[in-house]
Amino acid sequence: MKSPIKSFLLCSLIFLIANCRLQSSPHSNKSKKLDNIESVMLIGWDGSNRPVIQRLLLEKKLPNLAALIEAGSFVETEVKIDQTETKPQWSQILTGYTSKVHGVFTNLIYGPIPKGLTIFERLHDKFGHDIEFAFVSGKINNVSFRGPHEICVNCLFRLENKQNKKLPWGFISEKSQLNFAAETAPTRHGQKRIIAKRDGQPYYTLHQQGFVKYMINSLNEGDNVLKYTMSIIEPLTRNRFFAFIHFEEPDEQGHQFGEGTPEYIDGILKNDRRLGEIIAKLKELNRFNKTAIIVTTDHGFDTGKRSHMDSPHTFLVSTIKNLKKNSTPQDVAPTIYDIFGVDTDHFEIKLEGSSLIQ
Ligand SMILES: [Zn+2]
Repeated sequence: MKSPIKSFLLCSLIFLIANCRLQSSPHSNKSKKLDNIESVMLIGWDGSNRPVIQRLLLEKKLPNLAALIEAGSFVETEVKIDQTETKPQWSQILTGYTSKVHGVFTNLIYGPIPKGLTIFERLHDKFGHDIEFAFVSGKINNVSFRGPHEICVNCLFRLENKQNKKLPWGFISEKSQLNFAAETAPTRHGQKRIIAKRDGQPYYTLHQQGFVKYMINSLNEGDNVLKYTMSIIEPLTRNRFFAFIHFEEPDEQGHQFGEGTPEYIDGILKNDRRLGEIIAKLKELNRFNKTAIIVTTDHGFDTGKRSHMDSPHTFLVSTIKNLKKNSTPQDVAPTIYDIFGVDTDHFEIKLEGSSLIQ
């Protein structure tokens, strides 16, 4: 006959094993908290300084972002590693690694992100053809996929700005990098132009693999990004999907006019209206409730200046409730893996951040 103590011990052991299994399941978060979610739309507002976003929210000028926060979460993110620049920070967001792994150190020192490291490739590994992808970018150089090329590393920046004749301090322009062959971009203090070779922009290797069905860059202003997004959203969302939709605003206005200027603010307000249009379309297609929306930025902006040399204050907004309150750009990819139930324990290089889902 079993003693009561033995029975108790046996029951406790069974309970412990069952509980252990539940907790160690890589999908436990997903099954418990994100039942309906099949897809992720990651929306980038390049160069949005968190204090400005928070002020505009208080002034009720960002109704569409506010509605997402109301239903989900606002996270204060902070850039802690690598330059507060577009190339390295979007590379962090889209891989979950810092530059020592992804190899994109600054806007000028970079190469293609090594094969297999991006969210797109991880999800392609997991789902094969059972997922659709979009990569839609307003930037010409920094969030883009051109192959081997040369750049001018000491050309002046924003020469294309006709409204503002004053040339700011020397800094590379996306367009002057492209124009160097035509020798239209002068250098700071008339120095000899320094030309350097690069193996490709960050998403060159991803683009080469050809599985991202909707992959486009250099769309420039956000209205073009919105128009393209609206043109693909119906076929894209028929299946499970992961989309990265990148708006170059308010970064462009920040460089031309300065952080906090009416133009910079207008760039953010326009992004909010575009967010509203995307959400309305997802609702119309009956996909909104199955899609986790994440809006974030790559870096802040130097207060009142036209630069983002030291601008770590960023933000993340999502329809997912109860996210951790503080974060870094490296946490975005692990969060997306959590949503899709990707087992990250087997990644050959350990992720540097962790999921924001609690
Ligand atoms: Zn910038």
